Amino acid sequence: MKTQQFAVIGLGRFGSSLAQELMELGYEVLGIDKNEEVVEDISELVTHAVVADSTDEEVLRSLGIRNFDCCIVAIGADIQTSILTAILLKELGVKTVVAKAISVLHGRALDKLGIDRVVYPERDMGIRVAHQLVTPNLLDY
Ligand code: ATP
Repeated sequence: MKTQQFAVIGLGRFGSSLAQELMELGYEVLGIDKNEEVVEDISELVTHAVVADSTDEEVLRSLGIRNFDCCIVAIGADIQTSILTAILLKELGVKTVVAKAISVLHGRALDKLGIDRVVYPERDMGIRVAHQLVTPNLLDY
């Protein structure tokens, strides 16, 4: 069976951790970031890493983005960029688009665009840590 291919767009703390973990799990990962330094830092750790602006439709097309099984928009701070990127990925025919939201309103906008899955890493980690703090013996992964 063909190995599933992921594209992670935005290689900040969340995106780079996600990309590396997917590699560890045995999947193929394309990392995309507009910042050359960030791309250089991760280049040995993922299948391919490229410097690109994810709001540029032609660039996404030339990367063959529609052929990836799943694309993750891991850009949070710049909501406009996150939303534009997510719309382009959907329009280009990516099967599954996952996007990180930094606020409830950001998440609602992504939901309205028909993004397949919206994740809230900071909120979810806060919940998880709270549970760990009050359940000291709970086995954690
Ligand atoms: P984290 O909390 O995961 O570190 P963040 O929510 O603070 O990330 P940002 O700092 O906005 O998110 O962006 C994460 C990464 O996305 C950065 O490395 C940034 O260079 C990259 N990025 C931002 N805009 C674009 C874009 N248009 N195209 C590609 N990469 C981008």
